[in-house]
Amino acid sequence: MKEKIYTIPINDAFSQDCECPLCTLEKQQENDSISFMLSPALMEPDKRIDTNEKGFCRRHFGMLYNARENVLGVSLIIETHIQIQMEKLNKLITGSRKGIEADAGMNALKNLAGSVTKPATTTNKFIDSAVSFLDELDARCEICERIERIMERYADVTIWMYFKDPAFMEKVKSGKGFCLPHYKLLLKTAKEQLSPKQCAVFVNDLNDLMTSNMNRILEDVQWFSQKFDYRNKEASWENSKDAIPRSIEKLTSYGNFK
Ligand SMILES: [Zn+2]
Ligand SMILES: [Zn+2]
Repeated sequence: MKEKIYTIPINDAFSQDCECPLCTLEKQQENDSISFMLSPALMEPDKRIDTNEKGFCRRHFGMLYNARENVLGVSLIIETHIQIQMEKLNKLITGSRKGIEADAGMNALKNLAGSVTKPATTTNKFIDSAVSFLDELDARCEICERIERIMERYADVTIWMYFKDPAFMEKVKSGKGFCLPHYKLLLKTAKEQLSPKQCAVFVNDLNDLMTSNMNRILEDVQWFSQKFDYRNKEASWENSKDAIPRSIEKLTSYGNFK
């Protein structure tokens, strides 16, 4: 038996009328993660080891700040994160300082030749290591990584329930499908988790669901555009009034729409 902590929220999310039930679950997880980060727990220095190391992406730093809760906690998270990361960056900077200064004083002939060949100067080596350090820092986010782990689990349990519970299978099939990022997640999970035959059955069903619902959303967007034609001014909006946020969600997962 798969854990109820997963099956209950999955059943709830799939009972809602939405463009992607996995987006509903992810949004809950994101909000929970933000609340956890803002809780008193992270006021303790030893609880901030992960956030010191990873920090947050632009979206999640923004959400932490915009919550306007536990502002001191957010300040402490940022403070120790900067300290830890600057320690690493300073090591790279001071380790290369002399070499960069020497490069800055190189003679004209060597400089001219180097403009063409891009030699392995200390400066270029420093740039490469600083860029890879910054790339790595950029790619990490405590909240994104937490959500990713949980969403993998949700995808896993969703597929398990699909074959275990006929009522759930019906619910999925009569739903509106998934956004493209969660379609991708389900495809990857199916390949990992299912036998070849079961995987084919699932992928077939999923593809039918996705093509018919992507067509539906396309028609909604098309009608939205056509409503700008004066001849359609008096015609009904049908389902197109919110076609833009729904289609963006379908393409990229949920966002912050006003
Ligand atoms: Zn989604
Ligand atoms: Zn993030």
